[in-house]
Amino acid sequence: MEKKKRILTGERPTGRLHIGHYVGSLENRIKLQNEYETFIIVADVQALTTHFEKPEILRNAVCDVVIDNISTGIDPKKSTFFVQSMIPQIAELTVFYSMLVTVNSLRHNPTIKTEATQYGYKDMTYGFLGYPVSQAADITFCKADLVPVGEDQVPHIEAARKIVRRFNALYKPVLIEPEILLGNCPRLMGLDGNAKMGKSLNNCIYLSDSEEDVNIKVRSAVTDPNRITLKDKGNPDVCVVYAYHKVFNTKECKNISELCKNAGIGCVACKKNLESVLNVFLSPIREKRMQLEEKQDYIKDILMTGTEKVKGIAKQTLDEVREAMSIKYF
Ligand code: ATP
Ligand code: MG
Repeated sequence: MEKKKRILTGERPTGRLHIGHYVGSLENRIKLQNEYETFIIVADVQALTTHFEKPEILRNAVCDVVIDNISTGIDPKKSTFFVQSMIPQIAELTVFYSMLVTVNSLRHNPTIKTEATQYGYKDMTYGFLGYPVSQAADITFCKADLVPVGEDQVPHIEAARKIVRRFNALYKPVLIEPEILLGNCPRLMGLDGNAKMGKSLNNCIYLSDSEEDVNIKVRSAVTDPNRITLKDKGNPDVCVVYAYHKVFNTKECKNISELCKNAGIGCVACKKNLESVLNVFLSPIREKRMQLEEKQDYIKDILMTGTEKVKGIAKQTLDEVREAMSIKYF
């Protein structure tokens, strides 16, 4: 029987997951877990690169991220969850890879640049600048063939592919060059009109938000600033509410766009429609989530068992890596 191909995907435990995660990455991984051996990383070391001063946030979010994954349809029997910091081989591999990456290439990484601006970093830490190297280690220690992620991750996967090519050519071809798989909506806008909805940006609709929260948030979403009265014709292309209709309300979105352009629907009605569409989508997720929140021991067990399984794979890869680099001495 042919060996199943592998997927590596995951999140930083910096908070609960949002609807951007769903359309950017979760939706794909829910389908793919049936065909691929799926590994889901809870990337706490990567989270430390921006949250090292408030590690208590990570502590709370580790289980939340797993709960969000399972409540949207990830089956822990099919997919393996693990905690990044509990796999020391990832840190080792990061050191080896750091020899193969120039500081300039990291400085020019567009996502690093965007995030540095977003966090207000005038001077970046070594850890933050180097997180794409650590991410290359996350992907390659388990020899992932495919990485289902959002668009912000593309430069990092490219960097990982480059490291793999360099390593394989320089030493021995023991690593796998991963393919990227973008979601149905690779970059969902934030409620504030920011190009990306992000946990650390305070512009999210969370999968765990209550019906009331969703309604309040949708009402606050940025719409076409030039549309002041009902009679003004709107431009859906600059409207956050329409961006969400396009993704979550595929049946009606064309019609909504036409109505907006011809001043046939007001922003209030358009938002009301979106509120109900989102609440229909989120209702079963919320319900499952509430059940899982009562089962913290079950969630911990999933993480412990998964991490143990992954440790075996990590040891084996590091053995091969050391051998390829001729640093397995005895
Ligand atoms: P943080 O602000 O802490 O970085 P985040 O919201 O960016 O949080 P991550 O844990 O960094 O979430 O990302 C996890 C996955 O979700 C990645 O594959 C990322 O590309 C995807 N993702 C995150 N935000 C979006 C979005 N707005 N649209 C599409 N995909 C997204
Ligand atoms: Mg992020």
